[in-house]
Amino acid sequence: MTIDPRILALTPDITSFRRDIHAHPEIRYEEVRTAARVAEALRAAGVDQVYTGVGKTGVVGVIEGRKSGSGKVVGLRADMDALPITEIIDRPWKSTTPGKMHACGHDGHTSMLLGAARYLAATRAFDGRVVVIFQPAEEGGAGARAMIEDGLFSQHGINRVFGMHNMPGLPVGHFNIRPGPIMAAADFVSIEIEGKGSHAARPNQGIDSVVVGAHVITALQSIVARNVDPMESAVVSMCQFHAGEADNVVPQFARISGTVRTFKPDVQERVEAAVKSIATSVASGLGAVASVTYRRSYPAVVNDPVATDFAASIAARVGSVNRDAPAVMGSEDFSFMLHQAPGAFIFAGNGDTASLHHPEYDFNDDLTPVGIQYWATLVETELPLAA
Ligand SMILES: [Zn+2]
Ligand SMILES: [Zn+2]
Repeated sequence: MTIDPRILALTPDITSFRRDIHAHPEIRYEEVRTAARVAEALRAAGVDQVYTGVGKTGVVGVIEGRKSGSGKVVGLRADMDALPITEIIDRPWKSTTPGKMHACGHDGHTSMLLGAARYLAATRAFDGRVVVIFQPAEEGGAGARAMIEDGLFSQHGINRVFGMHNMPGLPVGHFNIRPGPIMAAADFVSIEIEGKGSHAARPNQGIDSVVVGAHVITALQSIVARNVDPMESAVVSMCQFHAGEADNVVPQFARISGTVRTFKPDVQERVEAAVKSIATSVASGLGAVASVTYRRSYPAVVNDPVATDFAASIAARVGSVNRDAPAVMGSEDFSFMLHQAPGAFIFAGNGDTASLHHPEYDFNDDLTPVGIQYWATLVETELPLAA
């Protein structure tokens, strides 16, 4: 690993910033203090333009290169939000807000991008323009989409956009990336079943919504096994099943809900159609009525092959990289940005820490200079100053 001495010099300051953000976590669209601190730091760094309130609580900084002849604009994105989880490890920078913590490392993402903005605003060794994007509400709030709706891409003319997420279990200095789908689409399913209530001693006089629900859940398991191409991937997880209030009453209503995850639009279509038809027809075969609500949330994160090759070559200069890493079943709203401009999402090793969304998790400060270097090298290579 080779880290520029100017990046090493600003790392202690960025680490203090990271720990301050960690101690003051804010969840989706409540990132008021975080956004204010980011905007203040960008202005102090001499970033040319700083926009706040983009996508409610997002912040955007624009940095002009020493030259502008290339006419190119590169977007770099970090997310700022925390999670509604209680942190259980005592560290000096432990969350000071009960029930909220930075359990996904977005404090680290924000700090690394701020470090890169400071380096780039000081050195400006590039030809073109850099847009640093500090996004709110990645965790279920579609903050990326909110920023796009506020003109993030149309206003700044971003040509290519890049994102990064830390990955526990992967050594610091190692990167994982792949062309094509790298993270899954996540859809939410809710199934309301109406049978007919009766006395538990006389089930023949009713239609048991619990038995119907059990058959529906079992039948849904056949989708991945029998409807999806064996060479493709999908997950159907029904995680809630609620029915009944008494031991001697056959309940009239049951509610099942869960998630579906897929990587490709045609697989997603097929699973959605199968969930609807299996739930309604199994219920009707047993005399009940099922109504299915299927809500698509974040699309799959699909890396542009050319941008992925480029990002991998940058990662290889900073550390080591697996260019054919396995895709991840989790989801990410950076996918919306990749619908606006080609780009690539990369995973950066967070070392041997607790997993993402775990109450013991913490962002690894050793990753900070690595991440800053990745952003800096990416910009100076994407927008090279002519020799
Ligand atoms: Zn997360
Ligand atoms: Zn995350």
